[in-house]
Amino acid sequence: MTNHELYMKEAVKEAGKAFEADEVPVGAVIVHNKRVIARAHNQIKLLKDPTAHAEMIAVTQAANALRNERLNNCDIYVTIEPCPMCMGALVLARVRNLIFGAEDSKTGACGSVITIGADNKFNHKIRIYKGVLKDECASLIKNFFKNKREEGSQWVLLKAGGRKEKVSH
Ligand SMILES: [Zn+2]
Repeated sequence: MTNHELYMKEAVKEAGKAFEADEVPVGAVIVHNKRVIARAHNQIKLLKDPTAHAEMIAVTQAANALRNERLNNCDIYVTIEPCPMCMGALVLARVRNLIFGAEDSKTGACGSVITIGADNKFNHKIRIYKGVLKDECASLIKNFFKNKREEGSQWVLLKAGGRKEKVSH
């Protein structure tokens, strides 16, 4: 397993925590000098905050850890292609490398919908790598939305002990 995969595994673990908490399963870790200095997952519902994306939380954590608003020589590993807001934050934070797993055709800002930060248009350029543990990263998201669709399309009878039983109608 490469270093990229090892760190992505950590991000996948974070995404798993989001999945458990019924949040869209995206996880992120930030690495500085081979050390993980931030790990986070989506907390949008928990915090009732549309900006509480894994990357945003991780950036704040890393800045606190380094006591520096600039994340010089930091690399971020994210399970899913970041959105425009997060790419904006990564440019502001001067992150060095972004490594992400699966693409996001709906909101991705690293080539899927638009591209932010990969060229010299801003005052900081981020090197972007994609496809690390892609299938693992994508399957969490797929399962999450598959469950959501199933929950939405069928009555769910809540049994004692919180066990759910699907009832066709
Ligand atoms: Zn985002």
